[in-house]
Amino acid sequence: MKTVEIIYRYEARDTPARPLPTDSQAALRRLDAGNRDFAVLLDHIKDEGGIQQIIPVDARDLGLQPGKSGPPAQRPFAAVLGCSDARVPVELIFNEGPNDLFVIRVAGNGLGTEVLGSLKYAVEHLGGTLKLVVVLGHSGCGALTTAVDVFLNPGDYLALATKHSLRNILDRLQVVVQATSSKMLAVFGSDIARNPGYRQALIEASIATNAALAAYSIQQEFDANERSELRAAYGVYLVETREVWAPRVGGTKGAGLAEPPSDLAEFSAFGDAIVQSDRIASFLRTEK
Ligand SMILES: [Zn+2]
Repeated sequence: MKTVEIIYRYEARDTPARPLPTDSQAALRRLDAGNRDFAVLLDHIKDEGGIQQIIPVDARDLGLQPGKSGPPAQRPFAAVLGCSDARVPVELIFNEGPNDLFVIRVAGNGLGTEVLGSLKYAVEHLGGTLKLVVVLGHSGCGALTTAVDVFLNPGDYLALATKHSLRNILDRLQVVVQATSSKMLAVFGSDIARNPGYRQALIEASIATNAALAAYSIQQEFDANERSELRAAYGVYLVETREVWAPRVGGTKGAGLAEPPSDLAEFSAFGDAIVQSDRIASFLRTEK
């Protein structure tokens, strides 16, 4: 029988099921490794006999420690701001279990007031174990798709005029789409706007820009508050391949999470890297 089983295995033992990452780099490596394991798992669906993925979890994280009563302490090693999209279940795609991640999900993974408040809580109260904050966009994001369509066809905005809650999300994304579009025109020339793949490329490049910009803003906040031991990272979960992708300066592939640019000047080179990445170029090439 061909099966893929993902098993959360609780074992009563004295040592932690998995040691917590001790710094931001270790936290980033663990998330990248977890995503790689998850991404390849379904590739084995063709194998005879199927495959099992076992995620070791600590019984203590459910308050099941022998001889102890009371709730377990909250001890996530990373906070993840992701999109509400049902195809992006955060713990699952990083191979993590209960009490590993502090997760905030909101359409378009933007930095609204409640999101910032939740992150502030995590940083101030979970600082003992928390090492990394990740902003995770995803391919085909509906929020960015709508923002791009409104940008390309401003007349469509009228239909949203009375929908204040939706506009709250979309208005914040317009600056991201505008900047990404300017970058594409600067890199490829103004004719690119007539390429049949332009809309799709703009959506996907805006998704990456949006995640990186949010991670950059969070990192600025950490540095300003002398919490520089905390690092921010960004990535885009590709629903097609189940892999995390993060375009970055100096590479065209961009596998795994990455740290955002360190200042606004670096953002310009970063914008070039996004629009010239293999992935974004593929939309423009294949649909010509
Ligand atoms: Zn989304």
